[in-house]
Amino acid sequence: MKKHNFNSGPSILPQTVLQQASEAIIEFNNTGLSILEIGHRTPHFMTVMEEARSLVKELMQLDDSYDVIFLHGGATTQFMQIPMNLLDSNETAAYCDHGVWGSKAIKEASLFGKVDVVASSKDKSYTYINKGFTVPNTSKYLHITSNNTVEGTQWHSLPDTDVPIVADMSSDIFSREMDFSKFSLMYAGAQKNMGAAGVNVVLVKKDLLGTIKRPIPSIMDYQKHIEANSLMNTPPVFAVYVAMLTLRWIKAEGGLAEMERRSLEKCNLLYSTIDTLSTFDCRINVEDRSRMNAVFFLSNPAHEAPFLELCKQEGMVGVKGYRTVGGVRVSMYNALALESVEAFTSLMQHFATTIA
Ligand SMILES: *Cc1c(COP(=O)(O)O)cnc(C)c1O
Repeated sequence: MKKHNFNSGPSILPQTVLQQASEAIIEFNNTGLSILEIGHRTPHFMTVMEEARSLVKELMQLDDSYDVIFLHGGATTQFMQIPMNLLDSNETAAYCDHGVWGSKAIKEASLFGKVDVVASSKDKSYTYINKGFTVPNTSKYLHITSNNTVEGTQWHSLPDTDVPIVADMSSDIFSREMDFSKFSLMYAGAQKNMGAAGVNVVLVKKDLLGTIKRPIPSIMDYQKHIEANSLMNTPPVFAVYVAMLTLRWIKAEGGLAEMERRSLEKCNLLYSTIDTLSTFDCRINVEDRSRMNAVFFLSNPAHEAPFLELCKQEGMVGVKGYRTVGGVRVSMYNALALESVEAFTSLMQHFATTIA
């Protein structure tokens, strides 16, 4: 049976990318070697790294005041690496707390400097994004999570501040058009919307670096990675290659404008189905709903298990809510076809009529 992959991460990738990546494991670009066997300092791989870095900038329309680096680890490494590079122990950084990932970022940052939680939606189980809060202009930076993967909220307009904005974009990078020059640092783990697990992309504005006194271990130092063109040590070669293929795919499909158009089509269909059927209940503030991860519940909690069982029978993978949230979570990343959301919403309709 055809599976519909709604996994939250690692998650669905374009079929063509999987095909090309699997071919490169056997033989990469007529080299007679696998992508897993080539040296990272060979022209073969350096070309891959350069293409990946330039595609990131091109898709996001960023100029040369930004550097793009690919680093080991997941976004969780960045929770530590960001304050280590940007925040001295006597300085304060402003953080927004909108869920599991933001809270973890706060915890790590407080190991390096002072953290001021300027906005939190914890009072209402993280079902909304705060508006109109103030960020003291003495803050070194403001950290936000652009899309809250677990809770199902997303920033649709940016906070009004002159403080440099740092954003965890792990689950919505390359999914929409935006003026990305409003951010001073953006980062994302690859496994949600741009590839395989094991690599992070970090986009940093050059003028943000070099402002602290703390000595930084070389492997953690953004500046050193920039100078080494992301080749300070052996990078996660295969993960970078898969990211590059995914970026090529995004460009060929029409770039971020087209990703956004498809994303809106998918999430509008899903949310309108939830809203018309009384069997389902989305508690997220309407204007803050995530286009990537829709989180909702069965109005009657006794219906949750049978609904999830039906999803399983019908080949709908990855729709169970996060362990601390419960309910249903449907992730609609770039590679997910509209047909999968259509199949899912038909199943919702069917379920609603049969249990009524
Ligand atoms: C998945 C995710 C993370 C954690 O990523 P790891 O690669 O597991 O470290 C952090 N932030 C957000 C927004 C995520 O979706």
